[in-house]
Amino acid sequence: MGVTISGCDGSRGEVATEAVEQLRSGLRGSLLSPGSPGYDEARTIWNAMIDRRPALIARCTSPADVALTVRFAREHDLLLAVRGGGHNIAGNAVCEAGLLIDLSEMKGVQVDPNARTARVGGGATLADFDREAQAFGLATPLGVNSTTGVAGLTLGGGFGWLSRKLGLTIDNLLSAEVVTASGEVVRASNQDNPDLFWAIRGGGGNFGVVTSFEFRLHPIGPEVLSGLIVHPLDAARDVLRFYRDFMPDTPEELVCWFVMRKAPPLPFLASEWHGKEILGLAVCYSGSNLAEGERVIAPLRKFGKPVADATAPHPFTAWQTVLDPLLTPGFRNYWKSHDFREVSDGLIDALIEHAGKLPDPNTEIAFAQLGGAVGRVPNEATAYGHRDGQFVLNVHGRWQDPAKDAACIVWARDLFTATAPFATGNVYVNFLTQDEGERVRAAYGKNYDRLSQLKNKYDPRNLFRLNQNIRPLAYA
Ligand SMILES: Cc1cc2nc3c(=O)[nH]c(=O)nc-3n(C[C@H](O)[C@H](O)[C@H](O)COP(=O)(O)OP(=O)(O)OC[C@H]3O[C@@H](n4cnc5c(N)ncnc54)[C@H](O)[C@@H]3O)c2cc1C
Repeated sequence: MGVTISGCDGSRGEVATEAVEQLRSGLRGSLLSPGSPGYDEARTIWNAMIDRRPALIARCTSPADVALTVRFAREHDLLLAVRGGGHNIAGNAVCEAGLLIDLSEMKGVQVDPNARTARVGGGATLADFDREAQAFGLATPLGVNSTTGVAGLTLGGGFGWLSRKLGLTIDNLLSAEVVTASGEVVRASNQDNPDLFWAIRGGGGNFGVVTSFEFRLHPIGPEVLSGLIVHPLDAARDVLRFYRDFMPDTPEELVCWFVMRKAPPLPFLASEWHGKEILGLAVCYSGSNLAEGERVIAPLRKFGKPVADATAPHPFTAWQTVLDPLLTPGFRNYWKSHDFREVSDGLIDALIEHAGKLPDPNTEIAFAQLGGAVGRVPNEATAYGHRDGQFVLNVHGRWQDPAKDAACIVWARDLFTATAPFATGNVYVNFLTQDEGERVRAAYGKNYDRLSQLKNKYDPRNLFRLNQNIRPLAYA
């Protein structure tokens, strides 16, 4: 008798009980199976549409634990998933009936304030990282929802409020400790295994399990000038035309994303607007001179007739969590995404049309601004290969009732199709859903072939396949 478990190819087999017990006793962390305390928590991820039951979950606490588990998976040819923060929309962080490496106990963050660097565990969230770095008045570009994992975000590229000025998250990555498919623990940096370092900066979880990251930090805050400027959806055409003309000449410390959705009951918004369709400009000026920031954002605040304006100095860590209440776990989610070089009239019209027929009050259209420092790094310098995209549309289909699945998915796909003519054809790998296999090449762009060669070198048997998968040449 043994444990029934899924192999790499999805077929079920058995691993002898003695082998499983040997793994259990070799771990400093714990090995969970269905029914163990903590099992359901470890298999539950952000997107409630994903409900998978691994046969075994290794809750690793160290690189040695990860290496042991990777060797076990390889030896028994098991289906292997790796969970960082568990946020990825595609749900690859969990496998059905296979082995899951759960890094959620590896959340350590050590800041060196003199060197302005931080070492961050493979299971840390953005909130863990920001909290420790801000204790020293430091930060690096991360995403906008604090419960997201640093690992998955970084491995796909990573961008947020600081990226126009300071680049992608990977542009601030100095080194990483990686457990490769062979079970070795190696360092990846510009000096050590530089090809692996290139590949993990945008190539996702294809090349190994990152047990820790070393980042460059920058002085930020403690306050940033930030907040939401809210307009009725009826004014969106004029406001977005102004936005597109105004933003290019502003300093790179300023970033403005926008969202179209039904207004939540925000305390600073008059109750008559709650539940109505709005356009929200989310503004963040991260320069140290907030008075200068006031001058820079003044035209945005003055334009049109906003129904609310909550821009003010906010602690950076508070601003980094400001969207958390709208992005809580446990909802059903279906996203579609495109990159854009410009905010064209046609794009604005398509967004407004679809914002007028939102299928659920939790569904939203999110539009992120990149540009600046992101585009100054050549496309071939890292695996993230489409830095000419200035904006990223993320169609956030989001709802609770499974009976609404079809309506919400259809709406998201319709908007995706309507905006496609204005898009670059590229897509951010971290925003791909699970049914977009045909877009994986577009996500890696011209870097795909080099990535495929490196996959051959570091993971020829495709042990790390539960991701936006780069096929080793043998499988290509
Ligand atoms: C609400 C929300 C907001 C977001 N906002 C932003 C944003 O502002 N900016 C942005 O850039 N992205 C954003 N994202 C996308 C986010 O970057 C991805 O979902 C990312 O994959 C999440 O990382 P994770 O560790 O939480 O995910 P997980 O689901 O745990 O991991 C995703 C994949 O990464 C790999 N992986 C995870 N950890 C490791 C590891 N330690 N070593 C090797 N491989 C690993 C695995 O293949 C795994 O399947 C957002 C996502 C959500 C859901």
